[in-house]
Amino acid sequence: MNALSLPPDFEARLSRNEPMSKHTSWHVGGPADLFFTPLDVTDISAFLQNLEAGTPVMWIGLGSNLLVRDGGIRGAVIETHGVFDELERRNDNEVWCGSGVACAKLAKQCIKWGLGPAEFFAGIPGTLGGALAMNAGAFGGETWRHVVSVAVIDRAGVRRERPAADYTVGYRHVAGPSDEWFLGALLRFELRPGVSSDDIRHLLAKRKATQPISEWSCGSVFTNPPGDHAARLIEASGLKGFRVGGARVSEMHANFIVNDGTASAADIEQLIRFVQQTVEQEHGVRLSKEVRIVGEVSHD
Ligand SMILES: Cc1cc2nc3c(=O)[nH]c(=O)nc-3n(C[C@H](O)[C@H](O)[C@H](O)COP(=O)(O)OP(=O)(O)OC[C@H]3O[C@@H](n4cnc5c(N)ncnc54)[C@H](O)[C@@H]3O)c2cc1C
Repeated sequence: MNALSLPPDFEARLSRNEPMSKHTSWHVGGPADLFFTPLDVTDISAFLQNLEAGTPVMWIGLGSNLLVRDGGIRGAVIETHGVFDELERRNDNEVWCGSGVACAKLAKQCIKWGLGPAEFFAGIPGTLGGALAMNAGAFGGETWRHVVSVAVIDRAGVRRERPAADYTVGYRHVAGPSDEWFLGALLRFELRPGVSSDDIRHLLAKRKATQPISEWSCGSVFTNPPGDHAARLIEASGLKGFRVGGARVSEMHANFIVNDGTASAADIEQLIRFVQQTVEQEHGVRLSKEVRIVGEVSHD
């Protein structure tokens, strides 16, 4: 079967040449060949089995850590948000959370259950699946500190459970079996009867005062180098406000690059490279990217 031809049931529910700018928080990105929103685990399993071997597959959550190049994505993109959305308490301390659940929803539900510390999830504008892939963290909390086990599905559509010990985890880094994607995770928290939604409001107010969260961005572009802050180095290199096309280093937080509404992915990527080169020249530190850059360069 041709990679771009699928059984009629899937054909009817696929989107072809789907602009990825609709699915990323930077609002840039060219078309995905195939964009599929599964109904459930059985459906995604059948979809994967029907794709020709070798067709590239990428899963996305809310696209809040993704720079998709202007030439788009070859192969299939699978959307999880709103699909794998189970969120239930399994016992006193443990919660099952689907990979498509927004981290903010997980944070709020944990407050209702009197579990924590989970408030930090409210600061991550992505899904649990993205947080598992990135080991996302905020306000001193980190996703994988809470993972007991995960459910994954592989390229052949086979679902399995894995203990957290199957993964090597670090600061914004997770390495595990390749060609598998997260369906959900069993998370463990402490009993925190006193925790309230005011705790979340307080954290978010702090964030609003220091980060340009109302503008189009992907959050921090670079990870912090050991013992320092990427934002400090970028600011000390005189780059606040520096722009390439419609992309600009935020004046509010130098580790954010914002799209003024007219940026292309190429503008953003060029600015990322310029910031890296300038910081290296000025401070001798090579910044590593936190953002994931995917897809093809446009030749238009
Ligand atoms: C304003 C703003 C503030 C931010 N603040 C923070 C912060 O404080 N801390 C922080 O850590 N991040 C922060 N981020 C970045 C981002 O929200 C996180 O990295 C988040 O975890 C990404 O989740 P997502 O669902 O949007 O993933 P996406 O951006 O859709 O994907 C990110 C990566 O995860 C992979 N992925 C997604 N879902 C799955 C899955 N189910 N299985 C396997 N792989 C998957 C994708 O292929 C991709 O490689 C911020 C972003 C913005 C826009």
